[in-house]
Amino acid sequence: MTVKISNKIVGYRVKKADDTTEQQAAAQSQADKPIQMNENIERPDFLLGTTYKIKPPVAEHAMYITINDIILNEDTDHESRQPYEVFINSKSMEHFQWVIALTRVVSAVFRKGGDVTFLVEELRSVYDPNGGYFKKGGVFMPSLVAEIGAVIEKHLKAIGLLESEEMSETTKRILAEKRAEFEASQKTATNDDTSNDYPANATMCGKCSTKAVIVMDGCATCLACGDSKCG
Ligand SMILES: [Zn+2]
Repeated sequence: MTVKISNKIVGYRVKKADDTTEQQAAAQSQADKPIQMNENIERPDFLLGTTYKIKPPVAEHAMYITINDIILNEDTDHESRQPYEVFINSKSMEHFQWVIALTRVVSAVFRKGGDVTFLVEELRSVYDPNGGYFKKGGVFMPSLVAEIGAVIEKHLKAIGLLESEEMSETTKRILAEKRAEFEASQKTATNDDTSNDYPANATMCGKCSTKAVIVMDGCATCLACGDSKCG
């Protein structure tokens, strides 16, 4: 296109190559507004949570552990459920001071956001110098702190932040068969409904800390996690 300039030229501007692309980019960003995401959110008026009951022998009364979750970026592709705070209630007063301190510190870590799963290992590896105890079901807890860690682990698995290592159906079936066979071979079957879910003479498993290891045909097998050693 040719344009005849009949007036006197009094000024000019050099056309920049990126003039139009900049305008296009601006228009584009207007069109698809970015989703604002952040992890610093004011606490909503209500939060959904779960309460777990534990009955550690080192405390006189049961303890109720409540973990509340917050939903981040709701209704977007980045929606996620994160733990937000933890409370522990009990009639027992003997552990009151440090339990309160622990819940505050754990809640603070939760609110910081990011990966909070490391807490589980930290708490679960606390050993009580007085020795730990066996929970119902034969699982060994090295301390009360470790049991609180186990509850947090259970919760993080429930909301999908930690993978739960589900045993395959085949493994479950094989373990059930082994167990039936073992119990049948033990003439002194005890039906006194003890708190243990596993045979009374089962020994401790080094892998899952459960009193569930039985020995059959020279092989030690854990009925809880399936860990097996022959020799
Ligand atoms: Zn095991």
